Amino acid sequence: MDYFPLFCRLQGKRCLLVGGGDVAERKARLLLEAGADLHVGALDFSAVFQQWAEQGKLRLLPGSFEESWLEGCWLVIAATDDDAVNQKVGDAAELRRIFCNLVDAPQEASAIMPSIVDRSPLMIAVSSGGRAPVLARLLREKLEAMLPQHLGQLATLAGSLRSRVKKTFASMAQRRAFWERFFASDRLAQTLANGDQPRADHIVDTLFDAPLSLQGEVVLVGAGPGDAGLLTLKGLQCIQQADVVVYDRLVSEPILNLVRRDAERIFVGKQAGNHCVPQSQINQLLLEQAQSGKRVVRLKGGDPFIFGRGGEELEVLAQHNIPFSVVPGITAASGCAAYSGIPLTHRDHAQSVRFVTGHLQQHGEIEWGKLAAEQQTLVFYMGLTQAPEIQRQLLQHGMNAETPVAIVQNGTTPQQRVETATLVELSQLAQQFASPALIIVGDVVSLRSQLRWF
Ligand code: SAH
Repeated sequence: MDYFPLFCRLQGKRCLLVGGGDVAERKARLLLEAGADLHVGALDFSAVFQQWAEQGKLRLLPGSFEESWLEGCWLVIAATDDDAVNQKVGDAAELRRIFCNLVDAPQEASAIMPSIVDRSPLMIAVSSGGRAPVLARLLREKLEAMLPQHLGQLATLAGSLRSRVKKTFASMAQRRAFWERFFASDRLAQTLANGDQPRADHIVDTLFDAPLSLQGEVVLVGAGPGDAGLLTLKGLQCIQQADVVVYDRLVSEPILNLVRRDAERIFVGKQAGNHCVPQSQINQLLLEQAQSGKRVVRLKGGDPFIFGRGGEELEVLAQHNIPFSVVPGITAASGCAAYSGIPLTHRDHAQSVRFVTGHLQQHGEIEWGKLAAEQQTLVFYMGLTQAPEIQRQLLQHGMNAETPVAIVQNGTTPQQRVETATLVELSQLAQQFASPALIIVGDVVSLRSQLRWF
Protein backbone atom coordinates (compact mmCIF):
# COMPACT_ATOMS: atom_id res chain seq x y z
CA MET A 1 0.00 0.00 0.00
CA ASP A 2 1.75 3.17 -1.21
CA TYR A 3 -0.84 5.54 0.19
CA PHE A 4 -3.05 5.33 3.24
CA PRO A 5 -6.70 5.92 2.29
CA LEU A 6 -8.36 8.34 4.64
CA PHE A 7 -11.39 10.63 4.70
CA CYS A 8 -10.68 13.73 6.73
CA ARG A 9 -13.04 16.31 8.15
CA LEU A 10 -12.14 19.77 6.92
CA GLN A 11 -15.12 21.75 8.24
CA GLY A 12 -13.81 25.07 9.53
CA LYS A 13 -10.21 23.96 9.17
CA ARG A 14 -7.84 26.26 7.43
CA CYS A 15 -6.60 24.98 4.06
CA LEU A 16 -4.32 26.68 1.58
CA LEU A 17 -4.75 26.47 -2.15
CA VAL A 18 -1.98 27.98 -4.27
CA GLY A 19 -3.11 28.90 -7.77
CA GLY A 20 -5.93 31.01 -9.21
CA GLY A 21 -6.80 29.37 -12.55
CA ASP A 22 -9.09 26.62 -13.86
CA VAL A 23 -7.35 23.72 -12.15
CA ALA A 24 -7.27 25.52 -8.84
CA GLU A 25 -10.94 26.34 -9.31
CA ARG A 26 -11.86 22.63 -9.47
CA LYS A 27 -9.92 21.94 -6.28
CA ALA A 28 -11.47 24.95 -4.59
CA ARG A 29 -14.95 23.71 -5.40
CA LEU A 30 -14.27 20.43 -3.59
CA LEU A 31 -12.65 22.10 -0.61
CA LEU A 32 -15.59 24.47 -0.29
CA GLU A 33 -18.03 21.58 -0.50
CA ALA A 34 -16.16 19.97 2.38
CA GLY A 35 -16.59 23.19 4.36
CA ALA A 36 -12.91 24.12 4.57
CA ASP A 37 -11.79 27.56 5.73
CA LEU A 38 -10.15 28.23 2.41
CA HIS A 39 -7.33 30.64 1.70
CA VAL A 40 -6.23 30.95 -1.90
CA GLY A 41 -2.91 32.47 -2.88
CA ALA A 42 -1.98 33.43 -6.45
CA LEU A 43 -0.61 36.17 -8.68
CA ASP A 44 -3.88 36.31 -10.64
CA PHE A 45 -7.36 35.07 -9.84
CA SER A 46 -10.05 33.97 -12.26
CA ALA A 47 -13.38 35.76 -12.15
CA VAL A 48 -14.91 32.83 -10.30
CA PHE A 49 -12.42 33.21 -7.47
CA GLN A 50 -13.13 36.93 -7.27
CA GLN A 51 -16.81 36.16 -7.05
CA TRP A 52 -16.34 33.55 -4.32
CA ALA A 53 -14.24 36.03 -2.36
CA GLU A 54 -16.95 38.69 -2.70
CA GLN A 55 -19.50 36.18 -1.45
CA GLY A 56 -17.31 35.52 1.58
CA LYS A 57 -16.73 31.90 0.67
CA LEU A 58 -12.94 32.12 0.77
CA ARG A 59 -10.07 34.55 1.32
CA LEU A 60 -7.69 35.66 -1.42
CA LEU A 61 -3.95 36.12 -0.80
CA PRO A 62 -2.63 38.06 -3.80
CA GLY A 63 1.05 37.77 -4.68
CA SER A 64 3.85 35.20 -4.89
CA PHE A 65 3.87 32.28 -2.51
CA GLU A 66 5.07 33.09 0.98
CA GLU A 67 5.79 30.54 3.68
CA SER A 68 3.69 32.54 6.12
CA TRP A 69 0.61 31.42 4.14
CA LEU A 70 1.10 27.97 5.61
CA GLU A 71 0.55 29.20 9.14
CA GLY A 72 -2.22 27.24 10.84
CA CYS A 73 -3.03 25.10 7.77
CA TRP A 74 -4.14 21.47 7.90
CA LEU A 75 -3.86 20.78 4.21
CA VAL A 76 -2.20 22.44 1.24
CA ILE A 77 -2.86 22.05 -2.47
CA ALA A 78 -0.45 23.50 -5.02
CA ALA A 79 -2.27 24.01 -8.29
CA THR A 80 -0.38 26.67 -10.21
CA ASP A 81 0.83 26.12 -13.79
CA ASP A 82 4.43 26.60 -12.62
CA ASP A 83 6.05 23.34 -11.51
CA ALA A 84 8.81 25.15 -9.66
CA VAL A 85 6.31 27.09 -7.57
CA ASN A 86 4.30 23.95 -6.84
CA GLN A 87 7.48 22.20 -5.77
CA LYS A 88 8.44 25.10 -3.51
CA VAL A 89 5.03 24.96 -1.83
CA GLY A 90 5.40 21.20 -1.44
CA ASP A 91 8.84 21.49 0.16
CA ALA A 92 7.72 24.20 2.56
CA ALA A 93 4.68 22.14 3.59
CA GLU A 94 6.81 19.04 4.07
CA LEU A 95 9.11 20.90 6.48
CA ARG A 96 6.10 21.92 8.54
CA ARG A 97 4.55 18.44 8.38
CA ILE A 98 1.47 19.63 6.58
CA PHE A 99 0.00 17.24 4.03
CA CYS A 100 0.31 18.66 0.56
CA ASN A 101 -1.07 17.73 -2.83
CA LEU A 102 0.70 18.78 -6.02
CA VAL A 103 -1.54 18.78 -9.08
CA ASP A 104 0.90 17.82 -11.79
CA ALA A 105 3.32 15.73 -9.75
CA PRO A 106 1.13 13.56 -7.53
CA GLN A 107 3.88 11.06 -6.85
CA GLU A 108 6.13 13.66 -5.32
CA ALA A 109 3.40 14.86 -2.98
CA SER A 110 2.56 13.70 0.51
CA ALA A 111 -1.15 13.52 -0.34
CA ILE A 112 -2.98 12.56 -3.49
CA MET A 113 -6.57 13.31 -4.38
CA PRO A 114 -8.66 10.36 -5.54
CA SER A 115 -11.33 10.30 -8.23
CA ILE A 116 -14.60 10.42 -6.35
CA VAL A 117 -18.18 9.31 -6.75
CA ASP A 118 -20.20 11.57 -4.52
CA ARG A 119 -23.50 10.26 -3.21
CA SER A 120 -23.09 12.06 0.09
CA PRO A 121 -23.03 10.82 2.75
CA LEU A 122 -21.88 7.84 0.70
CA MET A 123 -18.53 8.62 -0.86
CA ILE A 124 -16.41 6.37 -3.06
CA ALA A 125 -12.81 7.26 -3.74
CA VAL A 126 -10.68 5.60 -6.41
CA SER A 127 -6.96 6.04 -6.75
CA SER A 128 -4.20 4.46 -8.78
CA GLY A 129 -1.55 6.05 -6.58
CA GLY A 130 -0.94 8.64 -9.26
CA ARG A 131 0.22 5.97 -11.69
CA ALA A 132 -2.77 5.66 -13.99
CA PRO A 133 -5.15 8.55 -13.42
CA VAL A 134 -7.07 7.70 -16.60
CA LEU A 135 -7.76 4.20 -15.32
CA ALA A 136 -8.98 5.62 -12.02
CA ARG A 137 -11.24 7.97 -13.93
CA LEU A 138 -12.64 5.18 -16.10
CA LEU A 139 -13.43 3.16 -13.00
CA ARG A 140 -15.05 6.15 -11.44
CA GLU A 141 -17.26 6.56 -14.53
CA LYS A 142 -18.29 2.91 -14.31
CA LEU A 143 -19.24 3.31 -10.66
CA GLU A 144 -21.01 6.57 -11.44
CA ALA A 145 -23.14 4.73 -14.00
CA MET A 146 -23.90 1.82 -11.70
CA LEU A 147 -24.97 3.73 -8.63
CA PRO A 148 -28.39 5.33 -8.55
CA GLN A 149 -28.30 9.12 -8.27
CA HIS A 150 -30.43 9.12 -5.16
CA LEU A 151 -28.36 6.62 -3.20
CA GLY A 152 -27.13 9.38 -0.89
CA GLN A 153 -30.64 10.17 0.25
CA LEU A 154 -31.19 6.49 0.99
CA ALA A 155 -27.99 6.43 3.01
CA THR A 156 -29.11 9.42 5.07
CA LEU A 157 -32.48 7.82 5.74
CA ALA A 158 -30.77 4.56 6.63
CA GLY A 159 -28.84 6.35 9.35
CA SER A 160 -32.08 7.48 10.99
CA LEU A 161 -33.66 4.01 10.81
CA ARG A 162 -30.89 1.98 12.39
CA SER A 163 -32.28 1.73 15.90
CA ARG A 164 -35.77 0.94 14.62
CA VAL A 165 -34.35 -1.87 12.51
CA LYS A 166 -32.47 -3.23 15.51
CA LYS A 167 -35.62 -3.21 17.60
CA THR A 168 -37.82 -4.73 14.91
CA PHE A 169 -35.58 -7.53 13.68
CA ALA A 170 -33.93 -9.86 16.13
CA SER A 171 -31.63 -11.74 13.83
CA MET A 172 -28.74 -10.42 11.79
CA ALA A 173 -30.05 -12.27 8.73
CA GLN A 174 -33.37 -10.42 8.96
CA ARG A 175 -31.63 -7.10 9.33
CA ARG A 176 -29.43 -7.78 6.37
CA ALA A 177 -32.43 -8.81 4.30
CA PHE A 178 -34.18 -5.59 5.32
CA TRP A 179 -31.24 -3.41 4.31
CA GLU A 180 -30.80 -5.18 1.00
CA ARG A 181 -34.44 -4.52 0.16
CA PHE A 182 -34.13 -0.99 1.41
CA PHE A 183 -31.15 -0.05 -0.74
CA ALA A 184 -32.50 -1.83 -3.79
CA SER A 185 -35.75 0.07 -3.68
CA ASP A 186 -35.66 2.42 -6.58
CA ARG A 187 -39.17 3.56 -5.72
CA LEU A 188 -38.08 4.64 -2.29
CA ALA A 189 -35.04 6.48 -3.66
CA GLN A 190 -37.15 8.24 -6.25
CA THR A 191 -39.79 9.16 -3.68
CA LEU A 192 -37.15 10.67 -1.40
CA ALA A 193 -35.69 12.58 -4.31
CA ASN A 194 -39.15 13.96 -5.05
CA GLY A 195 -39.38 15.17 -1.46
CA ASP A 196 -42.56 13.17 -0.92
CA GLN A 197 -42.07 12.36 2.76
CA PRO A 198 -45.49 10.82 3.53
CA ARG A 199 -45.13 8.39 0.66
CA ALA A 200 -41.54 7.58 1.61
CA ASP A 201 -42.69 6.88 5.18
CA HIS A 202 -45.35 4.60 3.80
CA ILE A 203 -42.86 2.63 1.69
CA VAL A 204 -40.56 2.30 4.68
CA ASP A 205 -43.46 1.09 6.83
CA THR A 206 -44.34 -1.60 4.32
CA LEU A 207 -40.72 -2.72 4.33
CA PHE A 208 -40.97 -3.10 8.10
CA ASP A 209 -44.47 -4.55 8.27
CA ALA A 210 -44.80 -7.09 5.52
CA PRO A 211 -43.00 -10.36 5.96
CA LEU A 212 -39.69 -9.66 4.28
CA SER A 213 -39.79 -12.71 2.10
CA LEU A 214 -42.93 -11.43 0.41
CA GLN A 215 -41.64 -8.02 -0.65
CA GLY A 216 -41.23 -8.72 -4.33
CA GLU A 217 -41.52 -6.08 -6.98
CA VAL A 218 -41.50 -5.77 -10.74
CA VAL A 219 -39.67 -3.20 -12.81
CA LEU A 220 -40.72 -2.95 -16.41
CA VAL A 221 -37.57 -1.93 -18.27
CA GLY A 222 -37.20 -0.80 -21.86
CA ALA A 223 -34.05 -2.28 -23.36
CA GLY A 224 -33.98 -0.01 -26.39
CA PRO A 225 -33.78 -1.13 -30.01
CA GLY A 226 -30.61 -3.23 -29.91
CA ASP A 227 -27.40 -1.26 -29.40
CA ALA A 228 -26.53 -1.91 -25.74
CA GLY A 229 -25.24 1.65 -25.46
CA LEU A 230 -28.82 2.85 -25.83
CA LEU A 231 -29.93 1.23 -22.59
CA THR A 232 -30.65 3.92 -19.98
CA LEU A 233 -28.52 4.25 -16.85
CA LYS A 234 -31.52 3.39 -14.75
CA GLY A 235 -32.27 0.35 -16.90
CA LEU A 236 -28.72 -0.84 -16.38
CA GLN A 237 -28.99 -0.37 -12.63
CA CYS A 238 -32.22 -2.37 -12.58
CA ILE A 239 -30.90 -5.35 -14.52
CA GLN A 240 -27.85 -5.40 -12.30
CA GLN A 241 -30.00 -5.67 -9.18
CA ALA A 242 -32.55 -8.15 -10.45
CA ASP A 243 -33.15 -11.63 -9.04
CA VAL A 244 -35.06 -12.65 -12.15
CA VAL A 245 -35.10 -11.19 -15.64
CA VAL A 246 -38.01 -12.07 -17.90
CA TYR A 247 -37.18 -11.10 -21.49
CA ASP A 248 -38.27 -11.66 -25.04
CA ARG A 249 -36.89 -11.99 -28.52
CA LEU A 250 -36.19 -8.33 -29.21
CA VAL A 251 -33.77 -7.94 -26.29
CA SER A 252 -30.31 -8.08 -27.81
CA GLU A 253 -27.52 -10.39 -26.68
CA PRO A 254 -25.16 -7.54 -25.64
CA ILE A 255 -27.85 -6.26 -23.29
CA LEU A 256 -28.44 -9.69 -21.78
CA ASN A 257 -24.71 -9.81 -21.08
CA LEU A 258 -25.18 -6.85 -18.75
CA VAL A 259 -27.66 -8.69 -16.54
CA ARG A 260 -26.36 -9.59 -13.07
CA ARG A 261 -24.46 -12.86 -13.45
CA ASP A 262 -26.43 -14.89 -10.92
CA ALA A 263 -29.85 -13.59 -11.86
CA GLU A 264 -32.25 -16.15 -13.26
CA ARG A 265 -33.15 -15.48 -16.91
CA ILE A 266 -36.50 -16.51 -18.29
CA PHE A 267 -37.11 -16.29 -22.03
CA VAL A 268 -40.74 -15.76 -23.02
CA GLY A 269 -40.36 -14.90 -26.69
CA LYS A 270 -41.01 -16.81 -29.83
CA GLN A 271 -38.39 -19.41 -30.73
CA ALA A 272 -37.92 -20.83 -34.20
CA GLY A 273 -40.82 -23.19 -34.88
CA ASN A 274 -42.44 -22.56 -31.51
CA HIS A 275 -45.20 -20.19 -30.60
CA CYS A 276 -44.97 -17.22 -28.29
CA VAL A 277 -45.66 -17.76 -24.65
CA PRO A 278 -49.26 -16.50 -24.36
CA GLN A 279 -49.60 -13.10 -22.72
CA SER A 280 -51.73 -14.47 -19.90
CA GLN A 281 -48.98 -16.91 -19.03
CA ILE A 282 -46.37 -14.10 -18.93
CA ASN A 283 -48.64 -12.05 -16.68
CA GLN A 284 -48.99 -15.04 -14.38
CA LEU A 285 -45.25 -15.67 -14.35
CA LEU A 286 -44.46 -12.08 -13.34
CA LEU A 287 -47.06 -12.26 -10.61
CA GLU A 288 -45.76 -15.54 -9.17
CA GLN A 289 -42.13 -14.45 -9.24
CA ALA A 290 -42.93 -11.20 -7.46
CA GLN A 291 -45.17 -12.95 -4.95
CA SER A 292 -42.32 -15.25 -4.05
CA GLY A 293 -40.37 -12.16 -2.95
CA LYS A 294 -38.12 -11.64 -5.93
CA ARG A 295 -36.96 -8.48 -7.59
CA VAL A 296 -38.24 -9.07 -11.07
CA VAL A 297 -37.20 -7.16 -14.14
CA ARG A 298 -39.46 -7.48 -17.13
CA LEU A 299 -37.13 -6.53 -19.96
CA LYS A 300 -38.66 -5.57 -23.27
CA GLY A 301 -37.30 -4.36 -26.58
CA GLY A 302 -37.60 -0.64 -27.25
CA ASP A 303 -39.96 1.18 -24.94
CA PRO A 304 -42.32 -0.96 -22.87
CA PHE A 305 -45.26 1.40 -23.40
CA ILE A 306 -45.01 1.48 -27.18
CA PHE A 307 -46.56 -1.60 -28.77
CA GLY A 308 -45.05 -3.53 -25.88
CA ARG A 309 -48.09 -4.67 -23.93
CA GLY A 310 -46.37 -3.20 -20.90
CA GLY A 311 -49.65 -1.72 -19.77
CA GLU A 312 -51.41 -5.08 -19.78
CA GLU A 313 -48.73 -6.68 -17.64
CA LEU A 314 -48.86 -3.88 -15.11
CA GLU A 315 -52.63 -4.02 -14.82
CA VAL A 316 -52.41 -7.56 -13.50
CA LEU A 317 -49.74 -6.57 -10.98
CA ALA A 318 -51.78 -3.59 -9.85
CA GLN A 319 -54.80 -5.84 -9.26
CA HIS A 320 -52.66 -7.94 -6.91
CA ASN A 321 -50.99 -5.01 -5.13
CA ILE A 322 -47.52 -5.90 -6.34
CA PRO A 323 -45.31 -2.79 -6.30
CA PHE A 324 -44.03 -1.90 -9.76
CA SER A 325 -42.23 0.84 -11.64
CA VAL A 326 -41.40 1.56 -15.25
CA VAL A 327 -38.11 2.55 -16.87
CA PRO A 328 -38.65 3.84 -20.40
CA GLY A 329 -36.49 2.79 -23.30
CA ILE A 330 -35.58 4.21 -26.66
CA THR A 331 -38.29 3.02 -28.98
CA ALA A 332 -37.43 1.40 -32.33
CA ALA A 333 -38.67 4.45 -34.24
CA SER A 334 -36.23 6.79 -32.46
CA GLY A 335 -33.36 4.33 -32.64
CA CYS A 336 -33.84 3.37 -36.29
CA ALA A 337 -34.44 6.96 -37.36
CA ALA A 338 -31.27 8.16 -35.66
CA TYR A 339 -29.10 5.32 -36.95
CA SER A 340 -30.36 5.59 -40.50
CA GLY A 341 -30.11 9.37 -40.75
CA ILE A 342 -33.85 10.01 -41.10
CA PRO A 343 -35.06 12.78 -38.78
CA LEU A 344 -38.66 11.95 -37.85
CA THR A 345 -39.67 15.59 -37.97
CA HIS A 346 -38.18 18.44 -39.94
CA ARG A 347 -39.35 22.02 -40.29
CA ASP A 348 -39.62 21.70 -44.08
CA HIS A 349 -41.08 18.20 -44.32
CA ALA A 350 -43.02 17.00 -41.31
CA GLN A 351 -44.56 18.75 -38.30
CA SER A 352 -45.75 15.56 -36.67
CA VAL A 353 -44.97 11.87 -36.53
CA ARG A 354 -47.25 8.89 -35.97
CA PHE A 355 -46.29 5.48 -34.67
CA VAL A 356 -48.68 2.96 -36.20
CA THR A 357 -49.05 -0.76 -35.63
CA GLY A 358 -48.87 -2.93 -38.72
CA HIS A 359 -51.11 -5.53 -37.11
CA LEU A 360 -53.96 -3.82 -38.83
CA GLN A 361 -56.92 -6.02 -38.00
CA GLN A 362 -56.10 -6.70 -34.39
CA HIS A 363 -56.10 -3.09 -33.34
CA GLY A 364 -59.46 -1.85 -34.55
CA GLU A 365 -60.16 0.54 -37.37
CA ILE A 366 -57.23 2.54 -38.78
CA GLU A 367 -58.07 6.03 -39.98
CA TRP A 368 -56.24 5.93 -43.30
CA GLY A 369 -57.47 9.35 -44.33
CA LYS A 370 -55.62 10.93 -41.42
CA LEU A 371 -52.51 8.83 -42.03
CA ALA A 372 -52.37 9.88 -45.68
CA ALA A 373 -52.30 13.60 -44.78
CA GLU A 374 -49.27 15.63 -45.83
CA GLN A 375 -46.45 17.07 -43.71
CA GLN A 376 -46.24 14.15 -41.34
CA THR A 377 -44.09 11.06 -40.92
CA LEU A 378 -45.53 7.58 -40.44
CA VAL A 379 -43.62 4.82 -38.71
CA PHE A 380 -45.13 1.34 -38.98
CA TYR A 381 -44.10 -1.21 -36.39
CA MET A 382 -44.60 -4.90 -37.24
CA GLY A 383 -45.61 -3.81 -40.73
CA LEU A 384 -43.76 -6.13 -43.12
CA THR A 385 -46.50 -8.64 -43.84
CA GLN A 386 -49.11 -5.90 -44.18
CA ALA A 387 -46.92 -3.76 -46.46
CA PRO A 388 -49.14 -4.38 -49.53
CA GLU A 389 -52.22 -3.30 -47.58
CA ILE A 390 -50.42 -0.23 -46.17
CA GLN A 391 -49.36 0.75 -49.68
CA ARG A 392 -52.83 0.20 -51.12
CA GLN A 393 -54.67 2.14 -48.41
CA LEU A 394 -52.30 5.12 -48.41
CA LEU A 395 -52.47 5.43 -52.18
CA GLN A 396 -56.23 5.03 -52.16
CA HIS A 397 -56.52 7.79 -49.55
CA GLY A 398 -54.60 10.20 -51.70
CA MET A 399 -50.97 9.93 -50.65
CA ASN A 400 -48.53 10.79 -53.44
CA ALA A 401 -47.19 7.62 -55.11
CA GLU A 402 -43.70 9.16 -55.14
CA THR A 403 -43.60 9.65 -51.36
CA PRO A 404 -40.28 8.24 -50.16
CA VAL A 405 -40.32 5.18 -47.90
CA ALA A 406 -37.59 3.37 -46.00
CA ILE A 407 -37.39 -0.02 -44.38
CA VAL A 408 -34.97 -0.48 -41.50
CA GLN A 409 -34.18 -3.98 -40.31
CA ASN A 410 -32.26 -4.73 -37.10
CA GLY A 411 -31.83 -1.00 -36.56
CA THR A 412 -28.97 0.28 -34.35
CA THR A 413 -27.17 -3.09 -34.45
CA PRO A 414 -24.19 -4.14 -36.58
CA GLN A 415 -26.74 -6.03 -38.72
CA GLN A 416 -28.72 -2.91 -39.53
CA ARG A 417 -29.99 -2.83 -43.08
CA VAL A 418 -31.75 0.14 -44.66
CA GLU A 419 -33.26 0.50 -48.13
CA THR A 420 -35.31 3.32 -49.55
CA ALA A 421 -37.88 3.43 -52.36
CA THR A 422 -41.17 5.16 -53.13
CA LEU A 423 -44.63 4.33 -51.86
CA VAL A 424 -45.64 2.45 -55.05
CA GLU A 425 -42.64 0.15 -54.56
CA LEU A 426 -43.24 -0.50 -50.85
CA SER A 427 -44.78 -3.97 -51.01
CA GLN A 428 -42.05 -5.16 -53.36
CA LEU A 429 -39.34 -3.77 -51.10
CA ALA A 430 -40.87 -5.38 -48.03
CA GLN A 431 -40.42 -8.82 -49.55
CA GLN A 432 -36.65 -8.42 -49.23
CA PHE A 433 -36.80 -7.85 -45.47
CA ALA A 434 -37.32 -9.91 -42.33
CA SER A 435 -38.51 -9.00 -38.85
CA PRO A 436 -37.71 -6.95 -36.83
CA ALA A 437 -38.13 -4.13 -39.29
CA LEU A 438 -39.75 -0.71 -39.37
CA ILE A 439 -41.35 1.04 -42.29
CA ILE A 440 -40.89 4.80 -42.40
CA VAL A 441 -43.09 6.77 -44.80
CA GLY A 442 -42.70 10.47 -45.52
CA ASP A 443 -40.62 13.17 -47.17
CA VAL A 444 -38.10 13.08 -44.32
CA VAL A 445 -36.80 9.80 -45.79
CA SER A 446 -35.19 11.81 -48.59
CA LEU A 447 -32.82 13.40 -46.04
CA ARG A 448 -31.06 10.09 -45.55
CA SER A 449 -28.92 10.52 -48.66
CA GLN A 450 -27.27 13.45 -46.87
CA LEU A 451 -27.48 12.41 -43.24
CA ARG A 452 -26.59 8.71 -43.17
CA TRP A 453 -23.66 8.07 -40.88
CA PHE A 454 -23.95 4.59 -39.40
N1 SAH B 1 -41.72 -1.88 -27.68
C1 SAH B 1 -40.98 -1.90 -28.92
C2 SAH B 1 -41.81 -2.34 -30.09
C3 SAH B 1 -42.31 -3.74 -29.99
S1 SAH B 1 -43.23 -4.23 -31.42
C4 SAH B 1 -40.37 -0.54 -29.15
O1 SAH B 1 -40.72 0.44 -28.49
O2 SAH B 1 -39.51 -0.44 -30.05
C5 SAH B 1 -42.01 -5.05 -32.36
C6 SAH B 1 -41.67 -4.26 -33.59
O3 SAH B 1 -40.78 -3.22 -33.29
C7 SAH B 1 -40.94 -5.06 -34.66
O4 SAH B 1 -41.82 -5.82 -35.41
C8 SAH B 1 -40.32 -3.96 -35.45
O5 SAH B 1 -41.27 -3.36 -36.29
C9 SAH B 1 -39.96 -2.96 -34.41
N2 SAH B 1 -38.56 -3.10 -33.99
C10 SAH B 1 -38.09 -3.37 -32.78
N3 SAH B 1 -36.75 -3.37 -32.75
C11 SAH B 1 -36.36 -3.06 -33.99
C12 SAH B 1 -35.09 -2.87 -34.62
N4 SAH B 1 -33.95 -3.00 -33.94
N5 SAH B 1 -35.06 -2.53 -35.93
C13 SAH B 1 -36.19 -2.38 -36.62
N6 SAH B 1 -37.40 -2.54 -36.09
C14 SAH B 1 -37.50 -2.87 -34.79
